[in-house]
Amino acid sequence: MRKNREYLDGFQHKGMRKKLVDILREKGITDEAVLAAINKIPRHFFLDSAFDKIAYENRAFPISAEQTISHPYTVAYQTQLLQIKKGEKVLEIGTGSIYQTTILSELGAQWVYTIERQKKLYEEQQEYYYFRKQYPNIKFFYGDGFQGLPTFAPFDKIIITAAAPFIPPKLIEQLKVGGCMVIPVDEADNQRMMRITKLENGDLKEELFEEFSFVPMLTGKNG
Ligand code: SAH
Repeated sequence: MRKNREYLDGFQHKGMRKKLVDILREKGITDEAVLAAINKIPRHFFLDSAFDKIAYENRAFPISAEQTISHPYTVAYQTQLLQIKKGEKVLEIGTGSIYQTTILSELGAQWVYTIERQKKLYEEQQEYYYFRKQYPNIKFFYGDGFQGLPTFAPFDKIIITAAAPFIPPKLIEQLKVGGCMVIPVDEADNQRMMRITKLENGDLKEELFEEFSFVPMLTGKNG
């Protein structure tokens, strides 16, 4: 993501995006709204132009501050588990490239609050004017995701896009009754995708899914 970038979305990009959607479908993503959002949002806008021709491969790419944009499959998988409904209030931990954030907004969330702990990334996010105009319901925060955003809580949905060493208790507190959190939790060498739903009686329902590989969720701010 760079200043003064030319945001061109040509037929080649659109074609590559369509192929990516086919791959995600083959890999088991079935939620048509999620697939439509991936088909619509130009992933190459969120990367350095050096990656323009390969931005639609199903892989992670480096972004600033030694972080990565998640694999499209991972983004689709987590988003499918979240089941975003129109009008919901969503919290994302790990803004990174803003790609996942934009998908959440595109799916009809009323507000998407997103927290990044790397100052360099947060500053780049502030410069991303194109995107701010297109998606005014995204609110950016520089901070430690383990703390969440108590001022704006509770949230219908919470998504964590970094490898969590444990389930952050403050995020559970900030989840609405009936809401859910999708979180990759450390397990041996990788992370196990988990969906935690807060039930009416206050109990937590935990469901386990596939294994993934994320950059670590770290405490405190950097910068
Ligand atoms: N959703 C992003 C994923 C980026 S990688 C994308 O697809 O581009 C994960 C991000 O989480 C990194 O930018 C990292 O700096 C950030 N992160 C790690 N621990 C964090 C924390 N405690 N609070 C907020 N952000 C965190």
